[in-house]
Amino acid sequence: MEKGKVLIIGGTGYLGKRLVKASLAEGHETYILNRAEIGVDIDKVQMLLSFKEQGAHLVSGSFTDHQSLVKAIKLVDVVICAISGVHIRSHQILLQLKLIDAIKDAGNVKRFLPSEFGTDPARMEDALEPGRVTFDDKMIVRKAIEDAQIPFTYISANCFAGYFLGGLCQPGKILPSRDSVVLLGDGNKKAIYVEEDDIAKYTIKTIDDPRTVNKTVYLRPPKNILSQREVVEIWEKLIGKELQKSSIPKEEFLASLKGQEYAQQVGLIHYYHVCYEGCLANFEIGNDAVEASELYPEIKYTTVEEYMKRYL
Ligand code: NDP
Repeated sequence: MEKGKVLIIGGTGYLGKRLVKASLAEGHETYILNRAEIGVDIDKVQMLLSFKEQGAHLVSGSFTDHQSLVKAIKLVDVVICAISGVHIRSHQILLQLKLIDAIKDAGNVKRFLPSEFGTDPARMEDALEPGRVTFDDKMIVRKAIEDAQIPFTYISANCFAGYFLGGLCQPGKILPSRDSVVLLGDGNKKAIYVEEDDIAKYTIKTIDDPRTVNKTVYLRPPKNILSQREVVEIWEKLIGKELQKSSIPKEEFLASLKGQEYAQQVGLIHYYHVCYEGCLANFEIGNDAVEASELYPEIKYTTVEEYMKRYL
């Protein structure tokens, strides 16, 4: 089967650059939106040039120029958007409505993967303010896709390893301490951690796969479904030392949000749902969804233990 041509939006981003790499590695003809607004951001420009050297095509365009998006989309079969959606960095999820308008006008797209890559927003109807904005915005985008009858795949990637494992599941930390850790509640709620390059590899596998059309694909590598305590134990084993442990009860955690900046509060609420409520792993995948490590057993995913060795 001929591999689909792919356009990646947000190709210089934290996840986007990995999607470009994975798409090229899988042999897809890969296009990257080269936004005019990048201007003199030398890091982004150099990254795009290095992707070009590796075989990607750069397509000029802008979210402020509808026709430029339509033109770029017409070159490909599949559009993957990895636009920003983390408030402490940048949150532009609703800009995708412009992209959807362009996909509608272009009329040739066989698959669209919007910028999701986290908690399944469809399961977060009861999420707390202000963190629910992420899920609400992603649901607005889903509705626009489905109303326009654009074939889609939603990737529910669970926890990016860098954010969660690096900090032993503690908000505001991305490097593991060798001395102490604060457990969120009893630290026993299971979450799911996926290395970012693995997220990109699984994502690219789905794009031409008829089993994933109009489906949510959950990334649940079986060995990486662990509680905070289990992550800490793995780290302790690696460093040969027990960490000092304290715990922050749910009420205290929620009270600590008051007075913090909006972007921080959004992030903390995400940690709340993951670590206190276990929102990622407390449900079975239904018939309208599929699981990536079952679909693609050929991908040798990075285990939590392997990942934690990076910090030794
Ligand atoms: P980044 O913050 O790295 O941004 C990605 C890209 O978005 C940028 O490189 C840029 O693309 C594009 N972008 C930013 N601002 C604008 C703008 N104003 N107009 C147009 N494009 C813009 O994103 P992440 O990789 O952190 O996030 C990608 C997705 O992953 C999001 O949906 C996010 O919610 C999710 N995520 C999930 C996590 C988890 O633990 N599950 C953790 C982190 C993110 P360019 O300049 O290349 O055009």
